[in-house]
Amino acid sequence: MLTSICGINWGDEGKGRMVDLLSLDYDVVCRYQGGNNAGHTVINERGKFILNLLPSGILRENVVNVLGPGMVLDIRHLTEEAARLREQGIKITPENLKISDRAVITMPYHVLMDCLEEDRLADKKFGSTRRGIAPVYADKYMKKAFRMGELLNPDRLNRRIADILEWKNLTVAGGYGHDPVQVEEIVEYFKKYGEPLKDYVCDTGLYLNDANAKGKNIMFEAQLGALRDIDFGIYPYTSSSSTIAAYAPIGAGVPNLKLNRSIGIMKAYSTCVGEGPFTAEYFGEPAEKLRKAGGEYGAATGRPRRVGPFDVVASRYGIRCQGADEIALTKLDVLSDYKELEICTAYELDGKIVHEFPFPDVLDECKPVFEKVKGWNCDISGCRKPSDLPQEAIDYIKLIEKLCGCKITYVSVGAEREAYVKMN
Ligand code: GDP
Ligand code: MG
Repeated sequence: MLTSICGINWGDEGKGRMVDLLSLDYDVVCRYQGGNNAGHTVINERGKFILNLLPSGILRENVVNVLGPGMVLDIRHLTEEAARLREQGIKITPENLKISDRAVITMPYHVLMDCLEEDRLADKKFGSTRRGIAPVYADKYMKKAFRMGELLNPDRLNRRIADILEWKNLTVAGGYGHDPVQVEEIVEYFKKYGEPLKDYVCDTGLYLNDANAKGKNIMFEAQLGALRDIDFGIYPYTSSSSTIAAYAPIGAGVPNLKLNRSIGIMKAYSTCVGEGPFTAEYFGEPAEKLRKAGGEYGAATGRPRRVGPFDVVASRYGIRCQGADEIALTKLDVLSDYKELEICTAYELDGKIVHEFPFPDVLDECKPVFEKVKGWNCDISGCRKPSDLPQEAIDYIKLIEKLCGCKITYVSVGAEREAYVKMN
């Protein structure tokens, strides 16, 4: 069985925690896009973990984890992340971590370029995580990138460095006026951070095909959400990769295999980190209250996330993009301290009511239409079955289910692994 766990909204929906929970029934968990701009927080009996590159399945003893060819890997970050997890008692070996030979390497100069460009933009900045993600994906498509498989042949790898740097320095030094990147630093860098990863590098497509043929269950863990997808999101305020479930088999290395199940992770309210249009946004006191209740500060960056009520228009679009068969609605407990809740049920554009998510350029002119519903106004973090939930919470779930047209099968009511309700 091939299942994708993907984000319906702007990211930070709680994908990591749902992968941690649902991976119990899976043999393999695979990241298939993005890089260390991800921040997946998991809290279970082994501790609290923040994962940027490693799949959340790394926390389960019997799960094999894959970093697919669709990813961009900062090998220094990967080394440090693995070291941090090992300190927390997590085993990471070539047996439980497989890195695609085709995954692209995020270089220090990509991080540098990201910072130089954000600084150049100054107050027009995009809100990049400054982790080199856009520059490295750009180089991938320019066919000027290094890939993990090249680490297996250092002589050939080192011969390419001068050519790549000659080109790269045209922008680093020639364009931005920064000191040029030197060949020796890059040779050293590969030796220090690439060499030790060699035993992890393999053809993950072959591995996954084989696992699938043996009847193993494979889970794909997405980073970010539909609204940050490079094609379908709020471009240009998107990430640089495909965050879409349909891309999972490609980004994992198994374009020949078909997904059996797409589980969309959807937040019970809206959050958005960084710049870009965010129609249902709250400001001032209501924003502060919701942000505090949800602890909405980025796991990767610590930045305060922008917040707002649940957005039906954007979420229904996200569900369509993800082809979600079912939904896990997360962080419902965050809405406990409200007598009355708002839901954004439509947008108003040029005096007309809009129900379909528009071309992103007009989002700036859209105003949210908020409707009020009754809150439950009591602690639900201890609820473990539907009958534990107050009627108002059930009504809220059922209303969202109806407005979004997709079945909600899980509701999470706390950050810990067991803090969830399976809906019937
Ligand atoms: P991801 O990027 O989609 O994996 O999500 P993040 O980890 O960036 O953000 C989700 C945050 O909410 C994390 O800090 C989680 O620990 C926390 N979280 C996840 N599920 C719940 C929940 O049901 N209730 C509460 N209160 N917090 C949750
Ligand atoms: Mg996150």
